[in-house]
Amino acid sequence: MAETVETPALVLDRIPYGEADLILHLLTRDHGIVSALARGARGSRRRFAGGVDLFVVADVRFRPAGARSSLASLAGSEPVRSFPGLFDALDRLEAGQAMLVLARDLLRDAPAGEATFFRVVEALARLETASPGQTAGEVLALAVALLSDLGHPPADESCPACGETVGASGVVAVAPDGAMLCGRCAPPGAARFSAALLGGASLEGDVPDPAPARADVLSLVAALVSGVLGRRWRVRIDL
Ligand SMILES: [Zn+2]
Repeated sequence: MAETVETPALVLDRIPYGEADLILHLLTRDHGIVSALARGARGSRRRFAGGVDLFVVADVRFRPAGARSSLASLAGSEPVRSFPGLFDALDRLEAGQAMLVLARDLLRDAPAGEATFFRVVEALARLETASPGQTAGEVLALAVALLSDLGHPPADESCPACGETVGASGVVAVAPDGAMLCGRCAPPGAARFSAALLGGASLEGDVPDPAPARADVLSLVAALVSGVLGRRWRVRIDL
């Protein structure tokens, strides 16, 4: 039998399986994304305590997937950090949910290292104190950072076509492949957005006043992620 490995992890989603089990997608610090079967996780609250909940960092132990199973097998999970501030406001919780889905979908087939793990954990921590005008911008900031980790140019870089700052013309465009261009260089099929939306993605936390509309910011996130994934992706909020 394979050795059990231990690592901090964040549950990205939980899918009910069979009578009492859960299939978890975990973002782990040391092993990237891991899909794990948590036997009995729904049958007994004591089995994994709060260690298989959303918005919890837990020290997990699992046997890796092997020849006999495509899923890892969760052996234990001890919560070590929670994000109580997310539960104080619905928009924070929704943005947090969007962050988990974003991480799951972008990192599924990509190597996610320790820096990526901490990026997602820190994004959730920032959300705990975010004002209603900031929460969508935090989702955009995480999307830009994760795309950058995956080798896609970050938002504050120059237009790959002309070299100007992407937002210099007041318009940013997202090409069908997810590349961000300045408004002047955008091909006909590109989605166009106000450059002001990028202000919310500032990692220094400078929020434009007035804050951009949440739906517009999330549309920009959707265009970026859809292009990179090569399929239609949008922020789905279902709590
Ligand atoms: Zn350009």
